[in-house]
Amino acid sequence: MAVNLAGGQLPCGRPVNTLWNHIAYGTVDEHIRGCEYCQVALAQIRRLLMATGDTTGDMTGDMTGARTGERVRPPADLPRRVMAVIRAQLPPAPRVMLPGPSGNRLNISEQAVAFILRAAGDSVDGVRARSCRLTAAAPGVSTDADLELSISLRYGMPAPAAARAVRAAVRAAARAQLGLTLDRVDIDVVDIHLA
Ligand SMILES: [Zn+2]
Repeated sequence: MAVNLAGGQLPCGRPVNTLWNHIAYGTVDEHIRGCEYCQVALAQIRRLLMATGDTTGDMTGDMTGARTGERVRPPADLPRRVMAVIRAQLPPAPRVMLPGPSGNRLNISEQAVAFILRAAGDSVDGVRARSCRLTAAAPGVSTDADLELSISLRYGMPAPAAARAVRAAVRAAARAQLGLTLDRVDIDVVDIHLA
């Protein structure tokens, strides 16, 4: 059996990124000890660490110090290294493909696009942008896309006016910074914040 470390969550419900605690500190956890998914995930992470030349994967096999009675102190940057190894296993992020001159293409990761559009949404007073999903109008090279943006609204701010301002801001940023025309911009108010 192998588990998908890139999926964020194991089939048993444990988030993958909490497993580093177990690797780093050998924390006693009945669930992890008895769960086959967690055990497989831990073995995979240790193998990855060793494959990347990180001997920590070896060393952390028994961090509770059952043999020595001492607690081994893990390197401070272990969580970061474990997550870097896990992230390296992620499939390449989806790309937005824009046409360039004479058939050249400009590929931009959806993550980069989302960053720009979220920042544009954030620039509107009383709005905090949350998640952002872009759907290209056509597969392959396209200059058109639909956007779904979820936002939090400052208490007292009228939602229709905020949505209008956010639409204008993300459309302008998409055109100016990406050369992308947003057709449909759906705004989802998921939260209200104070001040
Ligand atoms: Zn589990």
